[in-house]
Amino acid sequence: MSDVVKAAVLIEPGKIEIREYPRPKLEEGALLVRPLMSGICGTDKHGYQGDAVQYAGTPREIYGPYPAVPGHENVAVIEEVKSSRGGKAVDFYGNELNHGDRIVISPDIMCGTCYWCRHSFGYTWCDNIRSYGHLDCSVPPHLIGGWAELMYVFPGSHIFKISDDVSDQIAVLAEPMAVAYSLDIAKGFSSLPHEGFSSGDCVVVFGVGPLGLCHLLKARLLGAGTIIAVDRSEFRLNFVKSYGADVTIDVDKTSAQERRDMVLGLTAGRGADVVIECAGAAEVLPEGIELLRQGGTFIEVGHFVDVGDIQINPHRHLCAKNIRLIGQMNLAYTGIIPSIDLMMKNRDRFDFDSIVTHRYHFRDSLEGLIQSMRPNSMKVVIHP
Ligand SMILES: [Zn+2]
Ligand SMILES: [Zn+2]
Repeated sequence: MSDVVKAAVLIEPGKIEIREYPRPKLEEGALLVRPLMSGICGTDKHGYQGDAVQYAGTPREIYGPYPAVPGHENVAVIEEVKSSRGGKAVDFYGNELNHGDRIVISPDIMCGTCYWCRHSFGYTWCDNIRSYGHLDCSVPPHLIGGWAELMYVFPGSHIFKISDDVSDQIAVLAEPMAVAYSLDIAKGFSSLPHEGFSSGDCVVVFGVGPLGLCHLLKARLLGAGTIIAVDRSEFRLNFVKSYGADVTIDVDKTSAQERRDMVLGLTAGRGADVVIECAGAAEVLPEGIELLRQGGTFIEVGHFVDVGDIQINPHRHLCAKNIRLIGQMNLAYTGIIPSIDLMMKNRDRFDFDSIVTHRYHFRDSLEGLIQSMRPNSMKVVIHP
């Protein structure tokens, strides 16, 4: 058993190095785990590019930090457990945790005592939030992201034990699928007529990379009608046809007016019931709202980092059509196991395992990051 552990470290924007850290000693209630698969997420790409302000305008606003061991979408196997005094280590649902168990680790650690922790169960609104992959790794225990040989899991983390039949590829999608809980929120509005997201609804998804694909799949599994995917990657537009997209629109081959005409043409002139923004492009907000019907729902989930402003017209875009605008950052940790269950129950319908299109050892994180930014990839993972 080596005392030295290697990890990929994002030193500063544009710079990744392999560094060695001492194998950490566990505090009570902590785990040491061996990452099996760690997704590369949009926030990792932004972190690499340096546009890394998250939670802007809230008490938990952060930049970076650098240096950090990236990797917050983690599937891992337990190496070492240090249970709390007098108790056994257990996961979120009380399942006992032992050496060799496979787990999914929710990215965020909450303080449990702030106002939001006491009032917002299931969400990650903690004023003192700490997120794996986005923590300063210059201080012990250093190994606080999944792009490493070993990862330290703090006491109080939300851990989910998974059964043997769940593949690593499905488990690694649990996090982005749990972000698609935005559609469950939209469903909540459907108790009123013509509101929210109902079965048979026309859904437009802007940006069908991994996050957009998860939303598209979730919309399909929750009973959407026509689903329209919009992207500028031909690879991705073709890819999502096997995962529930009925119509695809290439941004580079159409104008905003043509896209609007297409959506109106597919909805008897009314407009889409739901538009989901997963492109991380600010200009999609006003364009997407133009595609909505009266009382339609816009889900803004593509901006986990601050990429700047866009102008909207409050009358035209918000009031005139009585639209609902749902903004979402991060995920519902209560959605992790339900997301895995949803995929497992529909495994014969959709090939979830093939959504992971590229795998890289953490030594080659840089190549992985670059590949994840290319249009010919879907989910790229670090796979030691
Ligand atoms: Zn993520
Ligand atoms: Zn808190």
